[in-house]
Amino acid sequence: MSSPDIPHRAQEQSLDPDDWEVFRAQAHRMLDAAIDKMQNNREGRVWTAFPPELKANYKKPLPRQGLGAEATQAHMQTLLPYGVGNTHPRFFGWVHGSGTPGNLIAEIAAAAINANLGGRDHGAMYVEKQVVDWCRELFEFPATASGLIVSGTSVATIVALKAARDRCFDFTSRKAGLQHTGRPQLVGYTSAQTHSCVARAFDILGLGSDALRKIAVNERFEIDTGALQAAIAQDRAAGLTPFALVGTAGAVNVGAIDDLEMLADIAEAEQLWFHIDGAFGALGVLCDQLRPRLSGIKRADSLAFDFHKWLHVNYDAGFILMRSDELHRRAFSERPEYLKGSERGLAAGNPWPVEYGPELSRGFRALKIWTQLAEHGTDKLGALIAQNCEQAAYLKTLVDAHPRMVMLAPVAMNICCFRYQAPDQDAPAMDRLNDEIVVQLQIQGLAAPSTTLVGGRNAIRVNITNHRTTWADLDMLIREIDRIGQQLVAASSLNK
Ligand SMILES: *Cc1c(COP(=O)(O)O)cnc(C)c1O
Repeated sequence: MSSPDIPHRAQEQSLDPDDWEVFRAQAHRMLDAAIDKMQNNREGRVWTAFPPELKANYKKPLPRQGLGAEATQAHMQTLLPYGVGNTHPRFFGWVHGSGTPGNLIAEIAAAAINANLGGRDHGAMYVEKQVVDWCRELFEFPATASGLIVSGTSVATIVALKAARDRCFDFTSRKAGLQHTGRPQLVGYTSAQTHSCVARAFDILGLGSDALRKIAVNERFEIDTGALQAAIAQDRAAGLTPFALVGTAGAVNVGAIDDLEMLADIAEAEQLWFHIDGAFGALGVLCDQLRPRLSGIKRADSLAFDFHKWLHVNYDAGFILMRSDELHRRAFSERPEYLKGSERGLAAGNPWPVEYGPELSRGFRALKIWTQLAEHGTDKLGALIAQNCEQAAYLKTLVDAHPRMVMLAPVAMNICCFRYQAPDQDAPAMDRLNDEIVVQLQIQGLAAPSTTLVGGRNAIRVNITNHRTTWADLDMLIREIDRIGQQLVAASSLNK
């Protein structure tokens, strides 16, 4: 048969390299640069602001002609020193995991496979199924529980609360919408210390963030269960429909763990969906010291947590674990004809992950989670969690012993909130002083704590979810806070 297309075919193109040996050499150079960065993670500055000349690299017009592999790689290499700093042992801000070299390799393997885990029958799916099984085992959920890897706890919370919401309407809300359900307004409960992602989920799910009641906390920053029960009673009396209770295992400000057993009892008695935000704290089940305080997790209807925090999986990797596979699936399953499953061939392997969450196309996050657990094992990962808690307790002893520092909250796990004090300064000046100390630590590249408000006062907040942190790093942190604090106080009294 004649082929009239032949002249055309001579111009066929692809995105593969023209010369694989050149590509191989370039890739090896990048791998070396990445390993060098990992190997030197303990050295140098914690954080360095992205320089203006590099920012300018990202203000260029959309390229019509590609730069080619060599120049593109050179751009990537210049980025390596300018991370947020969470791979450094003195990164203590917010709640960030610190990552592992092993995950670098997992990301390369995942990119090579380039799997889409929305569904179908292929190797990557069995890796995710294994991660789901492991999570079930870890948190003592029943065999009928389901799970899904997502980007983080924010998305996991939306997935959980969608199932909780739709169950109230026997899932008719999925088709009719909330407008047509004819039910009194749904309301949920959580503590005032809960992460903002819960209120955001209420917003996104059309319930409105006002429908989330933020209950006061006790002196340990845990939800006040008396106030909770009073609020539920008041809402019922007002004709509203309480539907969900969100407990926290590791609140973001001070690391408080709610009385989860008590919350499970209340949820059971009031017939509420019991969800737990365990973003970082839930993985405390891996260590003997924290496990007893987390026993209520196994009674939850759903648990959201992150592998990218206290398990140090490289960003991003979160998880939603649901007690009932059936309710989970009923909240999300919708399989049009072009996504029909089959018994055999590539469309087998049912049910598919797309039936458990909002995403169809999903990357291979499961691999870096699986490799982290497989390579290090839960004993060591748990010991590192315990180590961070011991370090936070040690930091508290340094603060308590220091004449110019004071603790602002108890240390429940791995977070220490304290304050530098100067005599003769009023409250607003002290707030500014502590904010400035934190900014100076960051700008000088010495350490990266963050700030928060505890009891209406600005705190220096040190969160340790970092397997590289050493006791010496904490000694240095306290020394530097004192040095900077004294300098700032001296400078401000000169200015008076
Ligand atoms: C980090 C965090 C979240 C949000 O999780 P993402 O993974 O950032 O979406 C929610 N709750 C708590 C307690 C957190 O620490």
